[in-house]
Amino acid sequence: PVRVRFAPSPTGNLHVGGARTALFNYLFARSKGGKFVLRIEDTDLERSTRESEEAMLRDLTWLGLDWDEGPGIGGDSGPYRQSERNSLYKEYAEKLLESGQVYRCFCSNEELEKMKEIAKIKQLPPVYTGKWATASDEEVQEELDKGTPYTYRFRVPKEGRLMINDLIRGEVSWNLNTLGDFVIMRSNGQPVYNFCVTVDDATMAISHVIRAEEHLPNTLRQALIYKALGLPMPSFAHVSLILAPDRSKLSKRHGATSVGQFREMGYLPQAMVNYLALLGWGDGTENEFFTVEQLVEKFSIDRVNKHGAIFDSTKLRWMNGQHLRALPFEKLTKLIGEHWKSNGVLTESEGPFIDEAVQLLADGIDLVTDSDNELSKLLSYPLLDTLMSSEGKCIVEDKLSEVSASLLAAYDSGELLGALEEGSACWQKWVKSFGKTLKRKGKSLFLPLRVLLTGKLHGPDMGSSVLLLHKAGTCGIIAPQVG
Ligand code: GLU
Repeated sequence: PVRVRFAPSPTGNLHVGGARTALFNYLFARSKGGKFVLRIEDTDLERSTRESEEAMLRDLTWLGLDWDEGPGIGGDSGPYRQSERNSLYKEYAEKLLESGQVYRCFCSNEELEKMKEIAKIKQLPPVYTGKWATASDEEVQEELDKGTPYTYRFRVPKEGRLMINDLIRGEVSWNLNTLGDFVIMRSNGQPVYNFCVTVDDATMAISHVIRAEEHLPNTLRQALIYKALGLPMPSFAHVSLILAPDRSKLSKRHGATSVGQFREMGYLPQAMVNYLALLGWGDGTENEFFTVEQLVEKFSIDRVNKHGAIFDSTKLRWMNGQHLRALPFEKLTKLIGEHWKSNGVLTESEGPFIDEAVQLLADGIDLVTDSDNELSKLLSYPLLDTLMSSEGKCIVEDKLSEVSASLLAAYDSGELLGALEEGSACWQKWVKSFGKTLKRKGKSLFLPLRVLLTGKLHGPDMGSSVLLLHKAGTCGIIAPQVG
């Protein structure tokens, strides 16, 4: 059975790289009818915090990447925090000691430093050359009796190569003669990271390890530990890095990189998920818009690219617009209406004014937060004031003067207001007859009307904009501007 895991270290926020790793694991599990396990790798007690863990869980939940086993849910392979699994690591370390694949090393730090220095001078790899790999039982017992502190050191085969078949990168192999015997448990009884990960993946029966490329060097040590324990090795898939547009490593200086930041900026989780999936994966067609259900259906690890993927925030923004407009209209108006109200733009969060405004603006926005600006742009033209004031008449260029004179006359007679009051159908009829009198139609009618009535050359549908402007002046929903 397919069992995958996402194993974040709770030492900060969930970044787009981690979120993509989690997503690929999630999609793989869901597409194979397998299980998605969440494991918290908090062995670094200094840097791990509960706040960070909680924030990561919240971000994963927000993205909709629900896990089948893990913190908060439990499961048969728990506990799911490394800090709570120490007895298990100890048990497996003892097994390796008994079978002789691990030995006690009583070297002091000074001795180890000296070995490193000598290796450096001789230009040899910094491998362990101490005597404890071959010490006799008596020598060991002597140190034990003295109470000398010791580490558990893993016996690495002195020659040969180790090869894995990475599902993304193909064959990857290492020469064993440069590795040297490595420590799996420190003298204070604390197991080291690679050992914990291996014991966890093995005891949690993980079938596929899908993780970032930067963990590839760890795979060598982990594979050796699997072999020594006589446990079946999972398949590995190392996903390439996410790069900034300048192809450097993506970092804070490139702008927002954490999932929480995007949430706060008003991004939709489904847009994030869609965009993250495209960082290294595609379905082989031109199509880029996917719902999570479609991703589950189409995802395959064979299609994951081994080259670094560029994180393009402009494209993510565009993607958000696609998902915003794919929402059912009621959801969209609710989202935008609530945003306008909570931001103090409007005094209400629903009603016909909001429906009309959203209808008009939706095509021009990518983020919910764009809607403030778009609405105020639309409403920024004092429709009636302009028509009434003498200044308003001056705004109008000569070319427009014929239309402007007639428009003023229509305003003075109350005809214009009447048409606005009656709504869309009436307004269209009025515009038609207005054009007839002036012997204008099409662009030569609509462009001057748009400029005169909205103060702009471009914008959403002119009739709807004017009706909305009029409504804004009469419905009392616009919050007073402070400051
Ligand atoms: N805890 C590691 C990290 O946060 C992941 C280790 C793994 O996936 O094997 O980068």
